[in-house]
Amino acid sequence: MPDHDHLSESHACLLDADDPLAGFRERFYIPPGTIYLDGNSLGLLSYDAESAVLRALASWKEQGINGWLEADPPWFTLGEELGRRMATLVGATPESVIVTGTTTVNLHQMVGTFYEPTENRRKIVATSLDFPSDVYALQSQIRLHGGDSERDLVLVPSRDGRTIPEDDIIAAMADDVALVLLPSVLYRSGQLVDMARLTRAAHDRGALIGFDCAHSVGALPHAFDDWDVDFAVWCTYKYLNAGPGAVGALYVNQRHFGREPALAGWWGYRKDRQFDMAHHWEGAANAGAWQISTIPLLSAAALMGSLAIFEEAGIDAIRGKSLAQTDYLISLIEASGLCDEPYGYRIGTPRDHVMRGGHIAVEHDQAARIAQALKARDIVPDFRPPDVIRLAPIALSTTYHEIWRAVQALREIIETGEYLSIGTAGMVT
Ligand SMILES: *Cc1c(COP(=O)(O)O)cnc(C)c1O
Repeated sequence: MPDHDHLSESHACLLDADDPLAGFRERFYIPPGTIYLDGNSLGLLSYDAESAVLRALASWKEQGINGWLEADPPWFTLGEELGRRMATLVGATPESVIVTGTTTVNLHQMVGTFYEPTENRRKIVATSLDFPSDVYALQSQIRLHGGDSERDLVLVPSRDGRTIPEDDIIAAMADDVALVLLPSVLYRSGQLVDMARLTRAAHDRGALIGFDCAHSVGALPHAFDDWDVDFAVWCTYKYLNAGPGAVGALYVNQRHFGREPALAGWWGYRKDRQFDMAHHWEGAANAGAWQISTIPLLSAAALMGSLAIFEEAGIDAIRGKSLAQTDYLISLIEASGLCDEPYGYRIGTPRDHVMRGGHIAVEHDQAARIAQALKARDIVPDFRPPDVIRLAPIALSTTYHEIWRAVQALREIIETGEYLSIGTAGMVT
C-alpha cells in the first residue's frame, strides 16, 4: 500500500475495524454529536457506572442506615474493597491502596506524613511544570512544618518549557532533600517520567519519593510495589471515569504501614474497632489508616461500575491502543503538513513511547482561539495556557475515525481563518 493511503479516511475506518477494543465504546455515553477528546480532564459516564450508582441509590432507598453493613458490597468497607480492586491497576498489594479523599487532600495527607524535615535535610523537590494544586499543597506543608517555602521547595526548571529531563530531576536530589514529589505525567506536555529510575535515585540519596499519578492511572500500567515508591495519589475522574469530583485514591508502600498519619480521622481507625469510639488512636494496619472521613457513597459506586470495564479490557490492552492512537494522531498532523507554514502547529509531547502519557499536546500561538473553534465544531479538546491544545484519544471510547476528523478540523480551522473571529477574554475550559 502506498504511504499516502495511511492519511486517508478509509484507512482510519480500517483501523477501527481491526480494533479489538472497539466494542467498549458502546459502554459509554458519548455527548451527542461530539468528538470527545477531553477524557484526560473529565472521563465520560459509562452505563456500568450509571447502573452502579442506581444500585447504590436503591440500597440507600431500601436499606437506609443498614446499607453500611448489609448493602452489596457493604458501604462500610467500600474504600478497602475498591482499593483492592484498584491495586491490580497500579501494581500494588491489595492492602496498600485505599479509595478515599480527593487528590489534593490525599497529597496533603501523604506529604504531611512523609515529609519529616531535619536541620540538614529539609528540602522538597518538585518541578516547575507541576499542576498548581500540587505546588500549593507543598508550599503550605513546608509552612506547616515550620519551614520557608521559598527556601525549601526546589522546583526543577524545564529547559524547553515542555519537559523536564530525568537527569535534571536527579541532579536536584541533593543531600539536603528530604522528599521528592513528582507527577507521573506532566499535565501540559504529557511527558511520562521513569518512576522506577527516579525512585531508585531518590532512595540512593536518602530521600523519600511519591508520585501524583492523576494523569496516568487508567491510561497506562504502573508497578508501585516493584518500583518501590513510597507513596502515590491519583484521581478517579480523569481516565477512570468515576465522575466530576469523584473520590480519589492513594497508595502507601507496605514498608510504611503503621506510621502515624499526619491527618487522622475515624475512618482510618482499625475497622474492627472503629465503633468502639475510643479517643486513643489505633490506626488500621494498612493503607486504610490514611483515610480521614466517611467514603462518599455515590462517587464510590460510580468508580465500582467503571472499574469493571478496566478489569474486562485490561490495562495493557488499553495502553497498547492509547499509544497506537497517539502515534496515529501525531503522524496525521505531521504528514498532513500541519507543522509547516501556514498552519504552524507543533507537537509538544515526547515521541518516545516510554516518555509519553495518554494525551498529545498540540501547540499553536493561537491555541486558545483554535480550541474554541474546535468546540464550535463539536470537537472537545482542552486548552492549557499559554499555547497548548490537549487532545486525548481515549482507548475505551475514541475511534480512529474521530482522530482523523479532528485532524481535518485542525487543518480547516487555519485554512478558513474561522478562529480569528474568536475572542479570548474570560475563557475557561
Ligand atoms: C487533576 C489533578 C489534580 C486535581 O486535584 P483535585 O484535588 O481532585 O481537585 C491534582 N493534581 C494533578 C497533577 C492533577 O492532574
